[in-house]
Amino acid sequence: MEKQKMDRKQEKFKILKFGGTSLGTVERIKHVANLICNNELNLVVLSAMSGTTNSLAEIASLLFNGDIDGAQRDIECLKSKYIEVADKLYLSAKSIEEAKKFILCSFSSLQTIAQSPISSKQEKIILSQGELLITRLMHIYLKEIGIVSVLLPAIEFMRTDRNGEPDIHFIKRNVCKLLKHYPNNRLFITQGYICRNVSGEIDNLQRGGSDYTASLLGSALNACEIQIWTDIDGLHNNDPRVVSTTAPVRTLTFDEASKLAYFGAKILHPTCILPAKLKNIPVRLLNTMTPQAPGTLISDTADTGKIKAVAAKDNVTYIKLRSHYKIPCYRFLEKIFHCFAQS
Ligand code: ADP
Ligand code: ASP
Ligand code: MG
Repeated sequence: MEKQKMDRKQEKFKILKFGGTSLGTVERIKHVANLICNNELNLVVLSAMSGTTNSLAEIASLLFNGDIDGAQRDIECLKSKYIEVADKLYLSAKSIEEAKKFILCSFSSLQTIAQSPISSKQEKIILSQGELLITRLMHIYLKEIGIVSVLLPAIEFMRTDRNGEPDIHFIKRNVCKLLKHYPNNRLFITQGYICRNVSGEIDNLQRGGSDYTASLLGSALNACEIQIWTDIDGLHNNDPRVVSTTAPVRTLTFDEASKLAYFGAKILHPTCILPAKLKNIPVRLLNTMTPQAPGTLISDTADTGKIKAVAAKDNVTYIKLRSHYKIPCYRFLEKIFHCFAQS
């Protein structure tokens, strides 16, 4: 026991984030469970099952528009999907019962919220359910197969400040405090995407934000590596949804990766590289379906001199502006940026 404690102290965490595409079916949930049980010191960040956050966003949008019946119908439909997952995922009646109790509780809170048009505060509560559901389902599954894991509630440590930016100091202080309660555990699971805002209300890190959760936690814990597991073998040299002959890029610098993400490479959330870059923590993009494939390693090691990948963004508006020279250039620019800030 004493030796285990000592080892844990010296060992660095690995952060493993699995996206919704990696958790889209019962088989995939089981597969992810296998990947995370490798006896390393892992903090696993899970996104909602694919399609769930879209469905929740659709429910919220129906409620904003006052379509209560439509929202209640969609909630019922999503609930049936999760009940089916519970029936297929577990073997024991005890696990099925535990999972269903959680699912019913989550959906009954959605049904209660969906009695009348909602505020944006309630929208955030609706959007948080996907990550809360999958992490609980995974935790129960691991328990059923005899693996001990600790479920860490992300809303106890993931928080944004008054500018809506992650509160790095709060996150570090609180995740470390929570982990101290489990000195002998090696497998931790938490929700991606969700957080609290400066007023303590449930909020999120924006769509696709689980990648950001992973890198913020990697930075807070000074992790040895941040792994982003998805449905493709690393970052490709072009968008595979658009171009048919793409290939993985094996290495990228932090700057190359963040620029590609910013300009449209959907595999990564645009802001998620910065926390890793600041602490020089390597980020590895890996394929859940082909775990042995090398993926892409993002680090500070430059391999410059060639074009590595192309990214593109849709729905970009191009505005051409001309000054009439009646006001100084800096005033002209000030007025333009003021308009953008207000739009
Ligand atoms: P996850 O559910 O794991 O978060 P995402 O859908 O957010 O997965 O990101 C993975 C998807 O990003 C891939 O399936 C792929 O279609 C898309 N993608 C877009 N551009 C790229 C790129 N340059 N390289 C790899 N994947 C890309
Ligand atoms: N579930 C959230 C979304 O679909 C967060 C994520 O996938 O990273 O946007
Ligand atoms: Mg994603």
